[in-house]
Amino acid sequence: MSIPSLCSPVVERLEPYVPGEQPRIAGLVKLNTNENPYPPSPRAIAAVEAAAREGLQLYPDPQSLALREALAAAHGLQTDQVFVGNGSDEVLAHAFFAFFQHAGERLLMPDITYSFYRVYCGLWGIGAELQPLDAGLAVDVGALAARAAQGPCAGIVLANPNAPTGMGLPLAQIERLLAACPQRVVLVDEAYVDFGGESAVGLIARHPNLLVVHTLSKSRSLAGLRVGAAFGAPPLIDALTRVKDSFNSYPLDRLAQAGACAAVQDVAYFDATRHAVMHNRDGLARALQELGFEVLPSQANFLFARHPGRDGAQLAALLRERAVLVRHFARPERIAPYLRISVGTPAQCDALVRAVAAILASNR
Ligand code: PMP
Repeated sequence: MSIPSLCSPVVERLEPYVPGEQPRIAGLVKLNTNENPYPPSPRAIAAVEAAAREGLQLYPDPQSLALREALAAAHGLQTDQVFVGNGSDEVLAHAFFAFFQHAGERLLMPDITYSFYRVYCGLWGIGAELQPLDAGLAVDVGALAARAAQGPCAGIVLANPNAPTGMGLPLAQIERLLAACPQRVVLVDEAYVDFGGESAVGLIARHPNLLVVHTLSKSRSLAGLRVGAAFGAPPLIDALTRVKDSFNSYPLDRLAQAGACAAVQDVAYFDATRHAVMHNRDGLARALQELGFEVLPSQANFLFARHPGRDGAQLAALLRERAVLVRHFARPERIAPYLRISVGTPAQCDALVRAVAAILASNR
């Protein structure tokens, strides 16, 4: 009996997401998965350690109440406007299930964006309708709004700032989308917003169809803890909770809840590290421009850059030989010349720039 016949037929049709590599190579300059180069808040680490010492024999709070209260306080929301999950990937998966399955209607999204969105569409059987980015690789809000206003759609999903371009949209543009799609959810994934973007959280009070998704993996340096959140009107949060409670009562363990709570409350550390990342980003962008790169304006903790006349895949491979990892996307072809470079510490950024300069000089 072949293995596939043991599986539900849908398994063969899935096209899983491929995460960036996590190799264990000593001395590697790892700028490929948009992690924060700085460690988490010392208060978060102390909270995880304390949580490890007490109560691991007991299940965690299924509602993650303390964490939801901390997030609500941080964002000027009520606790019933906050949902949390095991990384924002899980929050997104639940949101796609809860809001975008409408027979015969397709979910609108930019053609170049976080590639997991299409994976969730495949998982839940949601049709996707892709709207091309404009010539400058910005999200074409006019086209998305016009399409939404024109006829039924299952909703709109976009990342702001977008990935992998790093380019952000002003809030007025988000409001345009909300107005064009009042009958369906507009999901704004703000994974990178703390590095200079404009958050739509303040629009929640006026827009019952807005869901904003955040992660603690980037600006809170907690990619290893797996904590994400969604903010929206209470009926949307209730829907997400129904889905979560039909899937896993305890997606956030005791360590994650304790560490995330402390990280959210350590505002001084959060501000210091995100500003350091933005400062390093601007220096790195200038250094790459001096080497001849075209660098898209980034409001995220990564740069999307290409060198005219150099092949993106080849540059990434040559950097890898020099123990510098960046991310390259071969598809769609339009972005194949680009490298996505996570912003590191000044030392990591210098190492990248030196490696790039050496490659360009060697003319390989
Ligand atoms: N959204 C976007 C746009 C991302 O780039 C990522 C990180 N790959 C995520 C969501 C998921 O982040 P996490 O699951 O670590 O919270």
